[in-house]
Amino acid sequence: MVVHYRSKGLVIGKIDRGEADQIFKIYTRDFGKLSVLGKAVRKTKSKLRGGADFLYFSDIEFIQGRAQKTLTDAGLIESFPGLREDFEKMKVAYSMAEILDKMTGFEEKDERVWRLAGESFSELEKAEKGKAGLLYYYFLWNFFSLLGYLPELYNCSICAKKMAPGLLYFSPLEGGLICKKCFSKAQAAFQIDQDLIKILRVMVCKDWNVVSRLKTAPHLKKSLKEVSQNYLDEIIKKLI
Ligand SMILES: [Zn+2]
Repeated sequence: MVVHYRSKGLVIGKIDRGEADQIFKIYTRDFGKLSVLGKAVRKTKSKLRGGADFLYFSDIEFIQGRAQKTLTDAGLIESFPGLREDFEKMKVAYSMAEILDKMTGFEEKDERVWRLAGESFSELEKAEKGKAGLLYYYFLWNFFSLLGYLPELYNCSICAKKMAPGLLYFSPLEGGLICKKCFSKAQAAFQIDQDLIKILRVMVCKDWNVVSRLKTAPHLKKSLKEVSQNYLDEIIKKLI
C-alpha cells in the first residue's frame, strides 16, 4: 500500500522539468525542506496548479517513490496577494525563500524555523510601506540565531570581556564584536557604529512588534545591509 504523507508547506522554489513537470522545493512543518515532483503540473487541467506555485502556503500530500517524492495533492491556504503586487515586498520574499533554501538541509524538520518563516511571510504580507526591508533583517538575524550562529553582541569575541562604549569593531570571521585591544589580532575586523550594535541587539529579540518600531537613519540602513550581507556570506561558507 502506498503511504500518502501530508503536511503544511511553503513553496520556496520551483524549476521546470520535461514538457509539463515541475520540481518544487517546499519547506514543510512536518518534514523540513523537501524536493517534490509535480507531475504534469504545467498542464492547464492539472489539479495541482491551484495549490502548488512559488510562495504558496498550502496543504500538501505526497508519496515517496523509489527515486523521488511525488506530489499527489496541494490545497492552497494562502497565496499572499498583497506581497505579489508590491515590488519591494516581493524582493524581500525572494530573499527569504532563497535563504531558507540555502541554509537548510533536506528533511531536517525544525519547528522554530517553520514558525519564524510563517511569521515573517504573514507579517510581510500585511507590512506597511517601508517596513519590508526591516522584516528581511528580522528574519535573517533570528534565523542566524535559530541555527546557532548568533554573533557575539555584548562581549569581545576574542577575549570575552564586556564591551565598553567607544570604538567598536566587528568580525564575521571571529563571530561578532571585537574590542580595541584585540582588533590587531582579529581577522577581517572592521569598525562598527554603536547604534548599529543596538539595532542588532533589538533585531534578535524575536519580537516583530518591537523590531517594527525601530527607526533607522539612512547611514545605519546602509551599514545594516553591509554587515548583514558580510555575515551571511561568512555563514554560507561555513555551511557549504
Ligand atoms: Zn577583546
